[in-house]
Amino acid sequence: MRVSNARQRLSSRTGDSPNARGLSRRSREPHGMMPRAAHGPQADRRGEMLSMRGLFPLFLLAMGCAAPPVSPPAARTALVGKGPWSQVPSVEMPTGDASIPIAFLRDVASALLVRPGAMVCDPVTQKPIVGLSTEYCSTIYVAGDRGSLSWRVTEPRQGTHNSCQPFFKIEDDDYPASQVWVVGYVHNHPCAATPSSLDIGAWPTDSFDPYVSMAEVRLIPGNPVPALYGNTGIEMASALVAERRDGTRIFLRYFPTGEIQQWSDGRADWISLDICTPREPDNRSRERTPECRKGPLRLLQE
Ligand SMILES: [Zn+2]
Repeated sequence: MRVSNARQRLSSRTGDSPNARGLSRRSREPHGMMPRAAHGPQADRRGEMLSMRGLFPLFLLAMGCAAPPVSPPAARTALVGKGPWSQVPSVEMPTGDASIPIAFLRDVASALLVRPGAMVCDPVTQKPIVGLSTEYCSTIYVAGDRGSLSWRVTEPRQGTHNSCQPFFKIEDDDYPASQVWVVGYVHNHPCAATPSSLDIGAWPTDSFDPYVSMAEVRLIPGNPVPALYGNTGIEMASALVAERRDGTRIFLRYFPTGEIQQWSDGRADWISLDICTPREPDNRSRERTPECRKGPLRLLQE
């Protein structure tokens, strides 16, 4: 099942327009990530969209965090991530979770956060330092079949002090493409900031057509069939890892629904923080934080 088909079926079933939550037809256009700038009623402002196309490269310069590819399709296909990353052990299903398991994410964080610059943060401003702080993106995927499925991650791709770009196409050492499903990506924030609008607006849908999707349901990746372990559908999600100044680590995962969860050591479970929607940059191309239902996103303090 291709995600695009699922999307269409969902639309017809619910009566929602595919544009209802930024789930836009424009996601199929060459500038695949443009829809992240077109949510809600704004999505129909075609003229505005066209003028924003010209601004998009500027967004990438002005905004932080996991950034989608903006290169033409031919160039994009050349960016192939290699997996599994030797620094991170694969985690076998079942894990008791249909989404990114915490044990796996801890290992990813341990490998990612020791990379040069991954935790470099200006102690005064609490902002990343240009040229020193570094974000890294790794693509998270599952590989195998319904009887044996493992969580894996690609080698990281180095970004800048405020952005990185995940691989959307990957090659796994052990499995052919037909047994590999891109689930999402993980990246670090050097100053432990919460997810940006760009982060939660960027959604690899599957390894064949990795464009944005925002939906009311938690999508499962299709490649070309859903990623299943037994009868459990693997849910798409991305993750953010960081370390606070006191040495405690933050593990977040966020879904195509806009839901953001944080791992709680105290409760030994994922806690849903809020449901958030990415916002367009302001009229000076400065990033705006996501709009969340309960107001500004607050992390658990524990
Ligand atoms: Zn980010």
